[in-house]
Amino acid sequence: MIEIPRQKPKFRFAPSPNGPLHLGHALSAILNHDMAAKAGGDFLLRIEDIDQARCTPDFEKGIYTDLSWLGLSWQQPVRRQSEHFPAYQTALQTLVERGLVYPAFLTRGEVKSRVAAFEADGKSWPRDPDGTPLYPLDDRERSDAERQRLLVSGMKHSWRLDMKRALAAADEPLYWRESGDGETGTIPADPAAWGDVVLSRSDAPSSYHLSVVVDDAAQDITHVVRGLDLFHATSIHRLLQTLLSLPEPLYHHHRLVLGEDGKKLSKSMGDTGIAEWRRQGLSPAELRRRIGL
Ligand code: GLU
Repeated sequence: MIEIPRQKPKFRFAPSPNGPLHLGHALSAILNHDMAAKAGGDFLLRIEDIDQARCTPDFEKGIYTDLSWLGLSWQQPVRRQSEHFPAYQTALQTLVERGLVYPAFLTRGEVKSRVAAFEADGKSWPRDPDGTPLYPLDDRERSDAERQRLLVSGMKHSWRLDMKRALAAADEPLYWRESGDGETGTIPADPAAWGDVVLSRSDAPSSYHLSVVVDDAAQDITHVVRGLDLFHATSIHRLLQTLLSLPEPLYHHHRLVLGEDGKKLSKSMGDTGIAEWRRQGLSPAELRRRIGL
């Protein structure tokens, strides 16, 4: 009989060190850790620090302190995205060579005023599942000669996925397998809902979407366990995985921990972090109870 090699289950918690971890991060980290232990797999940690302007070594240290205090341990070495920029550039280059991405020259301000002018007389500009206006399609239509001229002139630009061409290149309906707290089963991916997503910015060598698929493959991640706020982003990840011939993990999007106002916790809104609860004398067991574990 032929032995089918079974891949060792690998889970990862992938925070960004751009603020203190909050209770939602605690839930995500603990779920990943406990599901990995139950499956006889590995629990990995990835520091998502591509945004060098907002990520700091102190916040990174805080992540290690908080996770250790929660009683979690993870495999070494920790993968830090800032140490892998060439890997993301290689992935981007593959897409450039296939004509699936283009240099996009409109600034955020230009997009904003374009949308505002359009909506001034009651019409509504299409938005992505997070509510952000889709990128206007002008750059997609530029000729190669004009692109070349703008690039040579040193004009600032990002790189965006040409969604129309990317969908044609993928040439198959895309799905993912989901076992989380929302919709489960085989979920049809709808990357078109996101428009021409940005894959690399003028001020950061990769975007979240590009680096997350490259890293999940590089770390042999078999199970992606993360918050329901990233459920719809999985559509983009499945498209990029298909275009870059990367393996498809299983997905589990868990419930979010909400604040007292019923809204999603956020670092930027100064929601109480794990460290603050610790200073106030809460024990790890009490924290687990507080987040419903
Ligand atoms: N770095 C992302 C965050 O902190 C998580 C990305 C992921 O789990 O795919 O929200």
